[in-house]
Amino acid sequence: MTETWGQLKSFEGKEFSTLDKNFTREASKLIGGQDLTACFQCAKCSAGCPVSDKVNVQVHELMRMLVFGLKEVLDTDMVWLCTTCYTCQERCPQGIDITDIIFGLKNMAFKEGKTPQGYIVSRKGLYDTGKLYEPTDWEREDLGLGDVPELDVEDTQKMFKDTGLMKLKEGDEE
Ligand code: SF4
Ligand code: SF4
Repeated sequence: MTETWGQLKSFEGKEFSTLDKNFTREASKLIGGQDLTACFQCAKCSAGCPVSDKVNVQVHELMRMLVFGLKEVLDTDMVWLCTTCYTCQERCPQGIDITDIIFGLKNMAFKEGKTPQGYIVSRKGLYDTGKLYEPTDWEREDLGLGDVPELDVEDTQKMFKDTGLMKLKEGDEE
């Protein structure tokens, strides 16, 4: 098992005392969320998920947590380790837009300041340099390429500002 990011590591020993109807209502407003109750827990989504061995809460369990209004779902690894590959969505016999729901959950978690440190660091790097990582010279040499051209980061920074991406959570000042 890899290091986990979320606070909720598994269901083992965990007691959920409150089922939050308002949270289920909020989740049902996400793109794809209108079909939450169509999930019959076949787990076909989890069976095809490429990160299923990296997370302790599987995607079909995440779906059930949403129906039950368990807001702890925002603390699960599944939300952030999801690669958005859309395999689950393709496989779901009920046609539920699972990946789109997870996109919505990322946004909900972000608004509450529940963003893994790695994303925060990557975001700053992208803002400052316009790149997520620095290509190494030897990689470029192998491909017969010259130096990396300087990037104009103005448009990237404008996009960050216009979308509020530099805030750490809802309500933060830019
Ligand atoms: S594949 Fe669809 S119906 Fe089956 S558990 Fe996953 S979300 Fe539910
Ligand atoms: S979209 Fe996310 S949850 Fe769905 S199969 Fe891919 S990694 Fe797993």
